[in-house]
Amino acid sequence: MTPEERDLAVGARGFMPPDEGHALWTAASTIDPSLGPVLEVGSYCGKSALYIGPAVRDVGSTLFCVDHHRGSEENQEGWEFHEADLVDEETGLIDTLPHFRSTVHAAGLESVVVAMVGDSSRIAGAWSKPLSMLFIDGGHGVLPAKLDYMNWTPHVAKGGILAIHDVFPDPADGGRPPYEEIYLPAIASGKFAEDSVTGSLRLLRRIG
Ligand code: SAH
Ligand code: MG
Repeated sequence: MTPEERDLAVGARGFMPPDEGHALWTAASTIDPSLGPVLEVGSYCGKSALYIGPAVRDVGSTLFCVDHHRGSEENQEGWEFHEADLVDEETGLIDTLPHFRSTVHAAGLESVVVAMVGDSSRIAGAWSKPLSMLFIDGGHGVLPAKLDYMNWTPHVAKGGILAIHDVFPDPADGGRPPYEEIYLPAIASGKFAEDSVTGSLRLLRRIG
């Protein structure tokens, strides 16, 4: 990552600490593009895409970014991670898509990053391509986490990477679903083995 790319990613709005973002960039730099493209579930305003995108560009692949851009449960009014200025006046709903677009544009990544705007399960239902890397950072409730595990992880190619954000084995550190509904089932399936841990980011590799 160049210092300029790093500054843009660090300065972008969202929920990705610099060390975890850098680990995402490093992982994406090692992918084998012949296995398939890279896909992220949960983009918000584009912060994680600014870490993964430059690596994906440099290896000649494409980053698909899945998000309905209406925010997760915890982003809604009255919840911990609500940001009032993201509410669209016309609809009264959160709309992170304009922020995502301008962030990706400012980073010069429009030719590499493809936004897929809609519900994660609905998009997954129409998806059939193997992935060289899957990053799951979408809805953190039990059901959305379970659905993202069931719907997306089968698409990770053998030898490909499964990255999971907000994995907190200790409930004192944060919500359980990414740990209980994604990380643990992935390991228990015997199809994924852990490569590395950076903060709440787990990097797994598909082995079976
Ligand atoms: N990766 C981002 C943070 C993602 S926050 C960053 O680096 O800042 C989680 C995102 O998941 C939110 O933008 C929310 O809109 C999206 N999301 C939650 N449930 C979803 C669903 N069922 N389908 C599509 N997107 C969803
Ligand atoms: Mg996250």
